[in-house]
Amino acid sequence: MTPRGFADATGERTLQVDVVVVGSGPGGSAVSRALAERGAKVLVLEEGPPKPRFRPSMPHTQRYHMQEGGLIVARGSGFMPIAAGRGVGGGSLINSAICFRTPDHVLDGWAEVLGGDARFAPAAMAPVFDELEALLGIGTTPDEVLGENNRIIIRGARALGLPGGAVRRNAPGCAGCGLCNHGCPIGGKASVDRVLLPIAAAHGAIIQGDARVTRVIVERGRAVGVEARIHDTDSLEVVGALTVRAGTVVLAAGAIGTPRLLWSSGLGDLGPVGDGLHVHPGNAVLGLCDHEVVMWRGATQGAWFEDPALPGVLPHTLSLPPGPALLMLGPSGAAAKASHELLPNLCGCVVMISDHGTGRVRATADGRADVTYTFEPNDVQRIKDGMRTTASVLMAGGAREVMAPVHGLGRYTDVDAFTAALATRDVTDFTLYASHPMSTCRMGADPSRAVIGPTGEAHRLPGLVIADASVFPTSLGVNPQLTTMAVATMIGRALPL
Ligand SMILES: Cc1cc2nc3c(=O)[nH]c(=O)nc-3n(C[C@H](O)[C@H](O)[C@H](O)COP(=O)(O)OP(=O)(O)OC[C@H]3O[C@@H](n4cnc5c(N)ncnc54)[C@H](O)[C@@H]3O)c2cc1C
Repeated sequence: MTPRGFADATGERTLQVDVVVVGSGPGGSAVSRALAERGAKVLVLEEGPPKPRFRPSMPHTQRYHMQEGGLIVARGSGFMPIAAGRGVGGGSLINSAICFRTPDHVLDGWAEVLGGDARFAPAAMAPVFDELEALLGIGTTPDEVLGENNRIIIRGARALGLPGGAVRRNAPGCAGCGLCNHGCPIGGKASVDRVLLPIAAAHGAIIQGDARVTRVIVERGRAVGVEARIHDTDSLEVVGALTVRAGTVVLAAGAIGTPRLLWSSGLGDLGPVGDGLHVHPGNAVLGLCDHEVVMWRGATQGAWFEDPALPGVLPHTLSLPPGPALLMLGPSGAAAKASHELLPNLCGCVVMISDHGTGRVRATADGRADVTYTFEPNDVQRIKDGMRTTASVLMAGGAREVMAPVHGLGRYTDVDAFTAALATRDVTDFTLYASHPMSTCRMGADPSRAVIGPTGEAHRLPGLVIADASVFPTSLGVNPQLTTMAVATMIGRALPL
């Protein structure tokens, strides 16, 4: 069943529902499902297209399926693009389908921030993870779709005795075409538009795409609804206006979109709104093999490993199409020809860390995100340490040389020489990129340090609830979509209706 919006969304209209949910990513879809299953009349408003517009082209993906056209950049320690998905399904449409449960030690830390409230403790979360994993068909990536890029990491980690292997993913129909980040062309990924939203719709939820919420309406000290503009999918021309009045307003516009909307609505004073941004920053190591790898074939980001000596560092496969891979290699002009020849034999691995560095999200006058992020020196060192181990893994797995998207670094056949060269570079030499924004409207017991309490309800504005990756009290250290779904499910199940 495909989730449906209004038959005709043009013109002006006013609607009354029990709950309006802003955003339809992992958070918005999970909370909508939970609330609709309980009998609430739910309306989901989503800025991006109602149906996927997948095409394996970066400009096309940016236009339709990335917030702000893929141009969100954090200033601070250099310029760091931050990717966030857009469309009915949010980030799950274009993500790599990696699914990790939240580590127990992270959830134990949350219980402390929540003043001893154990609702997200490991034992309470386990049944929700079991349920979501079954629904989304989450399982270990099968060997036949892994491809050589992933296999190099698996072989290398095994040779060095490091834990890891094929990643668990919500892609039960994966054919290994490597196109996840442009949307699955064969419907093999169990993105939330294919699983959670249809359940919500079967329980009466209306899911309206092409609807950008511009303001949260507050009356007599309570959130009572939202205003939205309906636009044409292609031209973005505004064709309708919607005023929704609701008993509960749930924001699930993501860790960039939720604080952006609150600041645009003049609600930046609801606590530390937009502060404490974490992004799981990192870098990557590329390996050059004697044999053909073709890193853009095989399950997207299908392998991982960890080094017990480096807690909070999570290396996993880098799967890049040829264009971005060439950009990462860097050279232009005559040197570019050499890069083309390297391309088929490259393998790659991302090094992602659980960050202590933080940033903040505000809104510009025209409603775009204004983002800053500052690295902590120790985080940069942890990335470098992870890159050293990753270089060793790639060499043990079959690479002859290693390199990295770090300004002026060069190519190395020896990991010690690679590490020594890396030690002389700082974060401004890194090619920065992040796609895991979180923690910008944190959950916590103390209203001076958190925007929402353990139930998801705003400390300072009755009627307002938040249920997306912005609520995490800390950085996770693992890819966030499954945690986002689980937390939003639990918020939706416990909300007073
Ligand atoms: C390229 C990429 C690869 C990734 N790979 C993985 C992976 O393999 N595994 C993993 O766990 N995580 C991955 N992630 C991260 C993961 O997708 C996100 O953590 C997750 O989607 C966050 O869910 P969310 O509901 O908080 O926000 P989102 O998924 O960002 O959803 C928010 C939704 O709200 C909509 N919205 C925003 N503002 C408004 C507004 N004003 N009005 C109406 N709608 C609005 C947006 O269009 C969007 O659809 C990846 C992300 C990207 C971009």
